[in-house]
Amino acid sequence: MQKELLANPVFAMASTQFDEVAGFLALPDDLRERCKWPKRLISVAVPVKLDSGETRVFYGHRVQHHLTRGPCKGGLRYHPAVDLGEVAALAMWMNWKCALMDLPYGGGKGGIACNPGAMSPGELERLTRRFTMEILPFIGPEVDVMAPDMGTNEQTMAWITDTYSVHHGHLVPSIVTGKPLTMQGSAGRTQATGHGVAFLASNALHRINGSLSNTTAIVQGFGNVGSHAAATLSTYGVRIVGLSDASGGLWNAGGIDIAALRAHVAEHKTIGGFPGADAIDGEELLCMPCDILVPAALDRVITIDNAAKLRCRILAEGANGPTTPEADRILRERGDIFVIPDILCNAGGVTVSYFEWVQNFQRFQWNEREVITRLETMLQRASEKVTSFAERHGIGQRMAAQAIAIKTVADAKAQRGLFP
Ligand code: NAD
Repeated sequence: MQKELLANPVFAMASTQFDEVAGFLALPDDLRERCKWPKRLISVAVPVKLDSGETRVFYGHRVQHHLTRGPCKGGLRYHPAVDLGEVAALAMWMNWKCALMDLPYGGGKGGIACNPGAMSPGELERLTRRFTMEILPFIGPEVDVMAPDMGTNEQTMAWITDTYSVHHGHLVPSIVTGKPLTMQGSAGRTQATGHGVAFLASNALHRINGSLSNTTAIVQGFGNVGSHAAATLSTYGVRIVGLSDASGGLWNAGGIDIAALRAHVAEHKTIGGFPGADAIDGEELLCMPCDILVPAALDRVITIDNAAKLRCRILAEGANGPTTPEADRILRERGDIFVIPDILCNAGGVTVSYFEWVQNFQRFQWNEREVITRLETMLQRASEKVTSFAERHGIGQRMAAQAIAIKTVADAKAQRGLFP
């Protein structure tokens, strides 16, 4: 199984990062093995009747990296390229993210290989409900709690909640997070990840002696993370000069009007054709000059080919795994770009997910101000921990974040001991 996982490029990347950090921490071999490999890899066939009357079998996966520090926590992704290795890598990163943020969770991730954009709401509902039934023995509020990710949203979470609750005979809101507010979702959850990205990026700018006035940002991706990161940065007074989505890029040196762009996307489903900016190639956009660059779409977009050409001061990793280990080495050698690593930068989502889970158990609702204030406090604490660890050990931000997280998991494993 290990060999099959390593054949996947995203898992190989997560594995390389882990090996480097385990070496830095001088983790004993037995703990290294126990920390690195996922606990459970669940793959299920999901037969769905399509609107055409045809039945198609999709494949869904759920990987639970560890249950050592609590239930697994992580998103469910609908995308044609989903496979077990990629899901396993994302589950591993979720584990480190939860440990870094001191959340009482292990990491999990799931996905179904499908093209949600080409499916009707009815087909998506049948797909989601059947997948939930297939993995029902392996999930639960104390076992594994899913949340939205690429291609899924609060409606997907509502269907999962309903399917699980019908099976148990009563409403179980704590089975997922990222639910609609009408189903005990949390205030602030939708914007949490993007807000956290913007909050940490602005803090980093203050840290490197920049001010927010006359500051520019480029954001790749205009989905949940990218659109909220861009909107929050705009409210801080940052000019969003470049933006892209799957259809291509936009450029306006004077700043893109994010509210107008949102209205355009609500109507056209894409940023393409937006009249308030010029078209630009999405790849070229990443290397345009700016203060803050936010990759908030795909993994492995900062690579050996473009790392030397980036012209930003801060790289705020909204997406999971946007920078390859080779590109990371180039950035470290350059030393002129402050990297906010993914497991810290996009941790706002899982942190507010944790708040939602806690509120569900308490049958109590916090307001948006309470949620965002608590979120900012936790992000600030984690980011200070990472920066001072990096300074103390003379290492980069990514290595510091992962070292704190992996040490937390390794210590818990060592203290629990090995059964039997
Ligand atoms: P989403 O599906 O809402 O949005 C993805 C966006 O990326 C879309 O605008 C899409 O058009 C764009 N995109 C796709 N291919 C592109 C390309 N080649 N160039 C530019 N843009 C492209 O997804 P999301 O929830 O915003 O997640 C984005 C990333 O953030 C993923 O890596 C996800 O794992 C990570 N993440 C999300 C959350 C969350 O709370 N949603 C939390 C942590 C991490």
